[in-house]
Amino acid sequence: MASQIRYDNQVAVVTGAGNGLGKQYAKFLASRGAKVVVNDLGGTFNGSDAGGRGDSRVADVVVKEITNAGGVAVANYDPVQNGEKIIKTAIEAFGRVDILINNAGILRDISLRNMKTEDWDIIMDVHVHGAMKTARAAWPYMRKQRYGRIINTSSSSGLFGNFGQANYAAAKMALVGFNETLAKEGAKYNICCNVLAPSAASRLTQTVWTSDMMDVMKPDWVVPLVGVLVSQGCKESGSIFEAAAGHYSKIRWERSKGFLAHPEALSPDLILQNYSKIVDWTGAEYPTGAARAKALFEKTSAMPKPSD
Ligand code: NAD
Repeated sequence: MASQIRYDNQVAVVTGAGNGLGKQYAKFLASRGAKVVVNDLGGTFNGSDAGGRGDSRVADVVVKEITNAGGVAVANYDPVQNGEKIIKTAIEAFGRVDILINNAGILRDISLRNMKTEDWDIIMDVHVHGAMKTARAAWPYMRKQRYGRIINTSSSSGLFGNFGQANYAAAKMALVGFNETLAKEGAKYNICCNVLAPSAASRLTQTVWTSDMMDVMKPDWVVPLVGVLVSQGCKESGSIFEAAAGHYSKIRWERSKGFLAHPEALSPDLILQNYSKIVDWTGAEYPTGAARAKALFEKTSAMPKPSD
């Protein structure tokens, strides 16, 4: 029989763990030996009480379910925007933090035409600011112990766009850039950071999914991939994964081979003449880093002048 992945002697912080996906992550990790901080302010799905005046019972219920099953967990009711308080709970209760799942989230769906600045701000605040505050607070502990596993939760809306979700999509894509940078900054400290774009029945999908989908596509279906990504043996970092309806996949960037023009020949007409090369995927590459200006500059500089 294959050996079971376990998280004994590890401390996991799961934000937004009072409902939906976060609840299943917390219960799973605890069932495999992790000590878990169950963070949730018990908010509404649209963050109308995201300031921290929610129903603390949702976190308590999850803690109780974990402890009744023989696991170890404590509750934390702070909004993720106060991420340092969530990590403080982990340190005070268990003395360390090994796994952080930035999962808390809300929706304020509305078309751009009707969007108020507060609909934008609250989404940025909970998803982006919240993930940053929590990761930043966990970072020194992970660096010092030279070990950490972080999941930042994105969405297919962020990766591909979705009508009525400009605020949410922007926040979820921000987490991709955030994660890719954390992966680079954490590499030499064995801190692995990955993005997950999940799909599962929850308060966030109940208004748009059919009842058969709600009945079947439970958050438990997302848990196995998360279980692998936050495990000690997994060295994957800086990657984007999807988990939906029992399908698990990885997403990456693709850059066309493109067209290289000599600076002296540049004009919109030249670009138009070579447009088919710019959009042709033949021989595409899969970039994983930002630094390319110097290499391109060297290539361009070595090109013969158009007049030569
Ligand atoms: P959910 O509403 O069931 O659970 C989210 C939890 O986060 C709630 O319990 C809520 O109280 C908590 N929360 C909200 N704001 C908070 C804050 N400021 N501080 C602390 N806790 C807060 O939602 P879910 O579907 O389980 O979503 C979990 C994550 O997955 C979210 O980031 C969501 O955007 C993302 N996601 C979900 C789906 C899906 O299909 N369910 C799809 C794409 C992305």
